[in-house]
Amino acid sequence: MAQLTAVSGDITQLHVDAIVNAANESLLGGGGVDGAIHRAAGPDLLIACRKLNGCPTGDAKATPGFCLPAKWVFHAVGPVWHGGADGEDDLLAGCYRRCLELALEVGARSVAFPAISTGVYRFPPERAAKIAIAIVRSRIEESGAKESGIDELFFVCFNSETLRIYQHLLSDART
Ligand code: ADP
Repeated sequence: MAQLTAVSGDITQLHVDAIVNAANESLLGGGGVDGAIHRAAGPDLLIACRKLNGCPTGDAKATPGFCLPAKWVFHAVGPVWHGGADGEDDLLAGCYRRCLELALEVGARSVAFPAISTGVYRFPPERAAKIAIAIVRSRIEESGAKESGIDELFFVCFNSETLRIYQHLLSDART
């Protein structure tokens, strides 16, 4: 069974097969984790992203990691929080689902996610974490590591509140 772990720190430093970026629809860079990933990956990442012609919200596209320790970056576009009645939950779920598909496509066995949409896009952190864990559990734990192709999955928490939420939810098997 794949292992799910909450870790604190900077996702750009992780030695995993793939890290996930919380990008915007242009895929041309932004602030937050997106800015950090572009700075750490170097200018070739922007050149690769330009060729992707953007990405709709709820979807994700892959590029190499260039100067990052990670071999791949999955650029996921999370929804902007508008109060919850605008399909935000499904769109966020779509990001996690699509990234797990991309992992299978490129053969990434270790994948690290940031808390997509919970920064500038203002998605409530606990609600977002519940969705992230539910998708990952249903796709990875229930189908088994062999089918999912993933051995290790990290939820990277950039602040102590996010880490507390993930640790609490992951320790509860009913989440
Ligand atoms: P969004 O626009 O999807 O909300 P943000 O980048 O603003 O994206 O924030 C998404 C999450 O990523 C937030 O929880 C933020 O604290 C976190 N974050 C910011 N920088 C990093 C980083 N270097 N590594 C991991 N997480 C980060």
